[in-house]
This record gives sequence, structure tokens and C-alpha cells, in this order.
Amino acid sequence: MEKSIIKDKLNRPLRDLRISVIDRCNFRCQYCMPAETFGPDFAFLPKSELLSYEEIERLAKIFVSLGVEKIRLTGGEPLLRKDLPILVKKLSEIEGLTDIGLTSNGVLLPQHAKSLKDAGLKRVNVSLDSLNDELFGQINGRNVRTKPVLDGIEAARKAGLGVKINMVVKKGLNDTEILPMAEFCKNEGLQLRYIEYMDVGSTNGWRMDDVVTKKEIYNLLKEKYDLEPVDPDYYGEVAKRYHYKDTNVDVGFITSVSESFCSSCTRSRLSANGQLFTCLFNGNGHDIRDFMRNGVSDEDIINRVTEIWNGRDDRYSDERTAETHRNRKKIEMSYIGG
Ligand code: SAM
Ligand code: SF4
Ligand code: SF4
Repeated sequence: MEKSIIKDKLNRPLRDLRISVIDRCNFRCQYCMPAETFGPDFAFLPKSELLSYEEIERLAKIFVSLGVEKIRLTGGEPLLRKDLPILVKKLSEIEGLTDIGLTSNGVLLPQHAKSLKDAGLKRVNVSLDSLNDELFGQINGRNVRTKPVLDGIEAARKAGLGVKINMVVKKGLNDTEILPMAEFCKNEGLQLRYIEYMDVGSTNGWRMDDVVTKKEIYNLLKEKYDLEPVDPDYYGEVAKRYHYKDTNVDVGFITSVSESFCSSCTRSRLSANGQLFTCLFNGNGHDIRDFMRNGVSDEDIINRVTEIWNGRDDRYSDERTAETHRNRKKIEMSYIGG
């Protein structure tokens, strides 16, 4: 497919694609899929509504032809989708795609890390919000201890995957874990990324007061460690990184709330049911799945995606206020995967 670069209204190119492969999850993290809303009767998508692997492969090729270089698979919990390595293999064969990553809660990695690596996966971000078993069990809403996640991290490293750790920090919930997590990851040689708690969706009861900012976390770390800023690796790198002096370990911050980065946001997201979102905080996506299922040509899909991206002017985090948060309908995180 011929390659062209498309830009949005604010001159941002389309570079990254996140694909949610499933909306289900084996966890009920308080800040993402609170158990009160996502209870036993919650209607998740039936398989027929999910994009098939063939459909994802076709769309991935089209997105790569429009400038996408990196794809990250996410969910819900992506490892709950059957035969995920088959999809990874298909994606790894796409010319021009330089990076395939996965975001996972880690518990199924001992079973799947090796086959994912063999299929062409490069890296995995594992979410871990606490090292304290009891607290972690409360946060994940399923009383899962830390061991299954730590085993998953170990399995991923053994398989030769690059591993980063994601920790969402919520005030009064797990801010006591900021330093223990730093110490653990530093000793293990793992890059930890602290993620500011975000107002995604409308079920997690987000309040600005619950956010622990990068500055607060950085000041805590600074008391204990010698940190040096690291230049971004590439345009649009989301994490602000620091280096622990005299080690080869970095620590990062995703400052979506306190220092927004919309001006260099090159990311698009495909939900599990094939809706295209140009911002994490959109209410509705643009339908791609049914359009594609109507038998249109690749050219038609290219034109549709180009039109959507060309019309994009999202900068929600730049403009966020308590008002915009309250008054806006937003898609749930489990649909588009962060
Ligand atoms: N289940 C996988 C996992 O937890 O890694 C993948 C999907 S999860 C939605 C993707 C990422 O979003 C995770 O790192 C998770 O911690 C993060 N996340 C979920 N809800 C969030 C929120 N309200 N604010 C900030 N990050 C959030
Ligand atoms: Fe599941 Fe990930 Fe959301 Fe937790 S953050 S509920 S593991 S999708
Ligand atoms: Fe990108 Fe939207 Fe996040 Fe801004 S708020 S960085 S436009 S996803």
C-alpha cells in the first residue's frame, strides 16, 4: 500500500494506534471498571461485535499506510482474547510497522509471554499499583494478590520482552506505595511509569482532588534519589523520564492532568467494536466496523480515516476543568484501553 502522512487540524501527524481487542477484564480496578458498575450482569460485547483478527489486520495495514509506526494492543484485558499471538504474528508481518506493544495486568503472561514474543511482540507494559497484597487486592476489586502479576513480569522478561510497569496513583488510595514501588523497580531494573489518575469515562467518580501530580511524586522521589532528566526519545513521547544517577534505570511520569501534552498527541484508538476515537476523552467514536463490513474497498476506508483525522482538533487535557469533566459524556477506559 502506498504510504502517505496525514495531519489533523492542529498539524499533528497520525503516528500511533491503540487497538482494544476485548472489552472484558478479569480485574475490576476501582479507577477503571468499578465493580459496582461492572457487576455480574454487565453486558459485555458478544464476539460478533468485536473486530475479528482479519479485520484488525486489514485496518492496521491501512493505518500504517497513513503514517502509523507503532501499534499497542490493549483492552479490557487483552490476554483474555483467544489466540492473541495469531494477531501479533499478522501485525508483525506488516511492512513499515516498527513497534508492537501490549498493555496487560500481567496475570496471564506466564502462559502467553513466550508465544507472544515468538509471534513478534516487542514489549509489554504491566500494570501494578501496589506491592501490598491487601491493598492491591482492594484496588483490583478481585482480591488478586501481587504474586500472579510479579510472576507475569518475570515470565515476560524471561521470554525476552521489554517490560515497563504502569502505576496509577490515586490520592488516599495508593500514594503510600509511591516509594516502595520506586525502590522495587529500581532494584529490579524495571522502568516504572507513574500515571496521574485521569477522568476517563464516567463511572470512576474522578475528582481533581484525587490526583497526585507528577510534581508531588517527583518531590518525594527527589528526597531519596539522585535524578537526572532524560531527553525524549522521539517526537510525541508521552512519558517524561528521569534517570537514577549511577544506574541504568529510568523512571517516568504520564502527566495527563498536570502537564497535558495534547499539542504533540499523535494517537488514535480503535475500540473493541471497531469505533475510531481521536481522543481518549471523546464521547462517541467514528464507526469503522460496520462501514468496513458493508464491503467497501481499502481506498474507501483510507478516505474515511483521512477525513476523520483531518477534521480532528481534540485537546481535552489542555482544556480540562472540573466543568468540562462533569458536562462531557466520555467513553469508558475498558472500551478503548487507555
Ligand atoms: N488491562 C490492561 C492493564 O490494566 O494494563 C490494559 C487496559 S488498561 C485500561 C490500560 C492502562 O490504563 C493501565 O495501565 C491502567 O492502569 C490505565 N488506567 C485505567 N484507568 C485509568 C485512570 N482512570 N487513570 C489513569 N490510568 C488509568
Ligand atoms: Fe482491567 Fe486494566 Fe481496567 Fe484494571 S485497568 S480493570 S486490569 S482493564
Ligand atoms: Fe491526546 Fe486527547 Fe489526551 Fe489530549 S486529551 S493528549 S488530544 S488523547
